[in-house]
Amino acid sequence: MKIICIGRNYHEHVKEMNSPETGVPVFFLKPETALLLRNRPFYYPEYSKEIHYETELVIRINRNGKHIREAFAQGYYDEIGIGLDLTARDLQRNCRELGLPWEIAKGFDSSAPISQFIPINDLPNRNNIAFSLKKNGTEVQTGQSSNMIFSFDKIIEYVSKFITLKMGDIIFSGTPAGVGPIEIGDRLEAYIESKKMLTMLVK
Ligand code: MG
Repeated sequence: MKIICIGRNYHEHVKEMNSPETGVPVFFLKPETALLLRNRPFYYPEYSKEIHYETELVIRINRNGKHIREAFAQGYYDEIGIGLDLTARDLQRNCRELGLPWEIAKGFDSSAPISQFIPINDLPNRNNIAFSLKKNGTEVQTGQSSNMIFSFDKIIEYVSKFITLKMGDIIFSGTPAGVGPIEIGDRLEAYIESKKMLTMLVK
């Protein structure tokens, strides 16, 4: 399976990162070994001093497809979860300055904690899904899927032009503003609407 991550998908986050907007989705991949499941703790690695959370809605692809048109994209996913696109910001900064790929900053082990998935149709409004993150009990990030620059369906259309989507692949849909650092001892809790979906302790 593949983990596809969309970058720069909320205007306010693009601004906070001083990144240019690109007109098309920006995406990158994490390896399967980045998955962190079942609320397991995250062990802070020694190669970074600045790991950030990025709270993102995640969809799971339920059948294979390529060149999927936006109008048909809803037929390729029916479940949603929430995940943290953990990012070694210090390593990412170095990579960007040197014009190098991002993998060490984005694809390291356990850099993709995700929740269980729930049916999208169980949500009150599949076109505007609210989500949030608490760090040590304080809300630090909130988002609404209606603020995404590129919708799930547009993302599927764009990515599947280049890369065949397969059943079980997951797509991180980008973070809203408010990203920030984690430290050893932190407790992160991510919500879809008012339902707690994911807990991650940092060790
Ligand atoms: Mg991200």
